Amino acid sequence: MTSATKDRFRISFEFFPPKSAEMEGQLWETAQELKRYNPDFVSVTYGAGGTTKAPTFSAVQHMIETVGLTTASHLTCVDADRAETHQVLDDLKNLGVRRIVALRGDPSSGIGTAYRPHPEGYANAAELVAALKKEGDLDISVSAYPEKHPESPDVSADIEMLKRKADNGADRALTQFFFDNDVFERYLEAVRKAGISIPVIPGIMPIQNLTQLKRFASRCGSTVPAFLDDRFAGFDDNPADRAKIAAEVAAEQIEDLIGRGLHEFHFYTMNRAPLVASVLQTLGRQPSDDSRAGAAA
Ligand code: FAD
Repeated sequence: MTSATKDRFRISFEFFPPKSAEMEGQLWETAQELKRYNPDFVSVTYGAGGTTKAPTFSAVQHMIETVGLTTASHLTCVDADRAETHQVLDDLKNLGVRRIVALRGDPSSGIGTAYRPHPEGYANAAELVAALKKEGDLDISVSAYPEKHPESPDVSADIEMLKRKADNGADRALTQFFFDNDVFERYLEAVRKAGISIPVIPGIMPIQNLTQLKRFASRCGSTVPAFLDDRFAGFDDNPADRAKIAAEVAAEQIEDLIGRGLHEFHFYTMNRAPLVASVLQTLGRQPSDDSRAGAAA
């Protein structure tokens, strides 16, 4: 029996392209370390306006060729006409990519400004998914927002968009991070009621730093509940205990979701291994010892 079949839940890890040589080294170490926990796949984000196209390509290439992980590339519609989008896709396929996380993306003028689709491009993720599907043999993930996307008038507008993405051929949805499992469960019920049957995989954000997380979360439309302030209170000057609590909080969230019938989780790793590894070990998932020995394709 492989560890993939005996594990009681499945995992994927999200990384972002490194912005410096130092961050690059950290990312490769992180990927090697987290590989030992047997992810189904990892994904690499894709920046707005083409600015981080090259770093995404090189991170994806390294993950596939050197670390030996099944790797999805994120792809957005931002500032790209259709020909450019398909060129990027061809370049990714040439690197061996068969999985895409298909997104509209944030406006290159900044989050909070109005999104303007490229006049010759795909207007949103649903259009992008339809175009990718026509390319044939691709596994397509899309975003989902249990607390609604900040631009959406309400959750039902979000669910409508998710339905369009699923109807156009998305294989699964990866959610924005959230901390209230009741909110997620209500969202999932509404998703299923709308006739969407693809897996909706909870996005898990282990909390490296609560203050930074709050700033980031408000831009993503994710709520940081008050109970988290209580859990971390008094540990500002104690990084070791803070890390322990962060691992417990994420592990408790996942354990509760497993109790609600969920068995796949997408981790926002922030390119760091120790906290994610600690969450997984708290949940009883042991690293394999052999995957550091060499890279496999
Ligand atoms: P869509 O699915 O097209 O739309 C999301 C929601 O926004 C819809 O529910 C819709 O109701 C609403 N909406 C969209 N357009 C409008 C509009 N014009 N008016 C009103 N409502 C509207 N960003 C990156 O730049 N690079 C990445 O690699 C990246 N990876 C991500 C991975 C995940 C798992 C998630 C959850 C998000 C990611 N993002 C990334 C962020 C994402 O690009 C932003 O949230 C973006 O604003 C929306 O892209 P989308 O594909 O979710 O949009």
